[in-house]
Amino acid sequence: MDQCFYAMQLDTPGAPLRRVERMMPTPGDGEIRIAVLACGVCRTDLHIADGDISGRRPIIPGHEIVGRVDALGLGVTRFGLGDRVGVPWLGRSCGACPYCATGQENLCDAPEFTGFTRDGGFASHVVADARFCLAIPAAFDDVHAAPLLCAGLIGYRAYRMADGAKTLGLYGFGAAAHILAQIAIAEGADVYAFTREGDTAGQDFARRLGCIWAGASNEAPPAALDAAILFAPVGALVPEALRRVRKGGRVICAGIHMSDIPAFPYADLWEERSIRSVANLTRADGAAFLEAAAGCHVRTHVTVLPLADANRALDRLRAGEVEGALVLVPEGVATGNH
Ligand SMILES: [Zn+2]
Ligand SMILES: [Zn+2]
Repeated sequence: MDQCFYAMQLDTPGAPLRRVERMMPTPGDGEIRIAVLACGVCRTDLHIADGDISGRRPIIPGHEIVGRVDALGLGVTRFGLGDRVGVPWLGRSCGACPYCATGQENLCDAPEFTGFTRDGGFASHVVADARFCLAIPAAFDDVHAAPLLCAGLIGYRAYRMADGAKTLGLYGFGAAAHILAQIAIAEGADVYAFTREGDTAGQDFARRLGCIWAGASNEAPPAALDAAILFAPVGALVPEALRRVRKGGRVICAGIHMSDIPAFPYADLWEERSIRSVANLTRADGAAFLEAAAGCHVRTHVTVLPLADANRALDRLRAGEVEGALVLVPEGVATGNH
C-alpha cells in the first residue's frame, strides 16, 4: 500500500489549519471513499475554525464536497466506482429517533455532520456514508457544483420556509444568497439584497444577479417584505429584519451560529410576524434543491484556490472579501474553471 491522503486539519480553534498526511482510509460497510475534486468553503467552516461552535477535534473541515468514488465499502449499490457524487453537511442520521421517524432527519438526536463530527473535504480523499451522498446534475462542473452542497441547499430549505414570498429580503449577500436569489427571481419573486454598510461591490453584485434593490442592512427597502432570510451571523439583524416584514411576515435565520439578538419591542413581532431558525438538511431537501438549481440554470460565482491555501480562504471569508463562493481544489486536480 503506497497510498496516502492529505488534508488540512483543525487541531485547535483559533489556530491555522495544519497540513497532515495519513494512510488512505478504507470505507466501512455502507460507505464510499471519494477522491475530492472540489470542496466549497462555508461560513460554518469559519465558525468551526474560530471555535464559535465545537465539534470533534482534531477535525478535517469541509462539507461542500464534489468528488469521484474510488473505493466501495460492503453493501454499497447506490453508486459505482468513478461516479461523481456530492457530500453535504448531514453525514449520517440515526434512523431511529422520533425526528428520523417523521421525516425530520435534519433534527436527528444523534446526527453526524461532515467536517464537524466526521472528517470532511478539505482533503484529497474523504469517506462518506453512501446513503447521505447526492448525485450531482451533469449541468454543473465540479467547482461550480461545490457551493450548491451547503450554501445552496440550506439556503433553499430556508427559502421554502419563506412559503412563496413574492418580496424576499436576503441579509448577507454571500455564497448562499447569491444562489438563492437566482432561484427566487426565476420563480418570480422580487429580491431585496442587504449587505454590510458601504459594501457597494456586494450591492452591485446583487443587482447584476437581478435583485430589484440592494442596500445596507440598516436601510429601509422600498417595499414591505413578505419574508426575510438572514445569512449574516449578526443577531442585531433579527429585529432589523422584523421591522421590514409586513403583517404575517417571516424572519428566517439560516446560519448555525449568530451573535446575541438584542431586545426589541413586542410591537415589532405583533401582527403574526414570526422568527424561526433553519437547521441542517434532509436528503429530500438535497434532491429537491439540486433539481431546482439545474432547472433554473443557476450559475454559481466561484473563486478557486488550492487546498493548501485553506487558511487564506478562511481569512478572506472572515474579512468579507468574497464575491459568491470560495472553492478549494486539491493539488493535481485539473479544474478548467472560469
Ligand atoms: Zn435520528
Ligand atoms: Zn455549510
